Amino acid sequence: MTTVVHEAVQRTVLDDAREQLASAVETLGFGPSVFAMLAEPRREISVSIPLRRDDGTSEVLRGYRVQHNYSRGPGKGGVRFDARVDIEEVRALAMWMTWKCALLDVPYGGAKGGVRVDPRRYSTAELERITRRYTSEIAPLIGPDTDIPAPDIGTDEQTMAWMMDTYSAVRGHTVLGVVTGKPIALGGSQGRAASTSRGVVAVAVEALGHAGIDVRGARAAVQGFGKVGRGAARFLAEEGVKVLAVSDVYGGIHDRSGLDIAALERYVDETGSIVGFPDAEPISGEDVLTADVDLLVPAAVEGVVHAGNAGEIRARVIVEGANGPLTGEADRILESRGVLVVPDILANAGGVVVSYFEWVQANQSYWWSEGEVNERLVDRMTRAWRDVLSYARQRRLTLRLAATCMAVERVYRAHELRGLYP
Ligand code: NAD
Repeated sequence: MTTVVHEAVQRTVLDDAREQLASAVETLGFGPSVFAMLAEPRREISVSIPLRRDDGTSEVLRGYRVQHNYSRGPGKGGVRFDARVDIEEVRALAMWMTWKCALLDVPYGGAKGGVRVDPRRYSTAELERITRRYTSEIAPLIGPDTDIPAPDIGTDEQTMAWMMDTYSAVRGHTVLGVVTGKPIALGGSQGRAASTSRGVVAVAVEALGHAGIDVRGARAAVQGFGKVGRGAARFLAEEGVKVLAVSDVYGGIHDRSGLDIAALERYVDETGSIVGFPDAEPISGEDVLTADVDLLVPAAVEGVVHAGNAGEIRARVIVEGANGPLTGEADRILESRGVLVVPDILANAGGVVVSYFEWVQANQSYWWSEGEVNERLVDRMTRAWRDVLSYARQRRLTLRLAATCMAVERVYRAHELRGLYP
């Protein structure tokens, strides 16, 4: 369970997600029945995944798929392979997907899935068997019109290709639209792989400007060097930001004159980690979070900035690449310290925006160029940034509360128009 141990009372990531919803419902003046309706997932499934290992032994893993809401369209959300996955985490992530899709005005609801497994301990053949069995177990719930998975922590476009193939085998025909984040050769979209990172940086550039910090020469730290963190570091460097510190699950590195991100990417391709990168000082992962920088991009896991370290964060701007990297308590401490926090449901929405573009392109069987995808993505992200900023200013809210209010309002309006069945 993703439990934040630093808070006085042990809280889970789902507690934080529900607290955000409660604040939005209260701010909007909606009654407790709206909270009750949106605090619980519409549907969820827990599946057992028996796995035959390469050495002939077998074991049983646990997987989940949660559909939080589909008032505005089919469920949409990633599949996570991680040793800490549990039902509460998946419920929180599914709820955030509902808000993210509503905020960016893509016609989806929210969903999320996960398998409790450390993918580093399994061979590629074993991961393929895990993915296929998980997909066949959740197949009755997913589909291009019902719930469309995508990659998340520990999964990638190969995972999506296996999911699409397994689902298609179950249905008896090829169903490309059942997942997004597919390889280009299988109907994936140009620009999807880097879309979350590109969106994070588009919003970071706006946020730095808003905070009065010159983007060229600004100093940044990035936690996580996976699909989101790595691209974020690359695009920040392209914008002229000096990325001084990065970390992954194995440790951190620091270079006061700015890391050579292209060289670091080559090093990670060869070794699998940032640790040991020459010409950088090794530091702890925790020190990356509290590095002396202007911008912090947490792009790894939940709850990494908490009551125990929020007072030591030196960045003036935090852009949440990950989902839920700040606990509720950390949010309050950072707000009182005047740190500008750009919330996950806005900052990392680039992935779902291009997933939507992938779905639109597949429906039209007409493919856009990478330039077109990126241009439309950046346009959507900067528009969403401006909308959230103006909503927050008019009502004197934090960006997180403003973004959540905007999303909750849209979901509630859709729900109201549809009415209650029966
Ligand atoms: P990933 O598996 O590709 O990468 C995760 C990275 O985080 C790895 O470098 C890993 O070593 C590192 N990491 C894990 N625990 C860490 C720790 N305690 N300290 C430092 N580093 C740590 O996953 P990803 O797809 O990049 O997802 C990262 C976050 O972004 C997640 O919260 C995910 O939900 C969110 N997100 C991802 C996407 C997407 O399109 N992939 C979209 C929106 C949000």
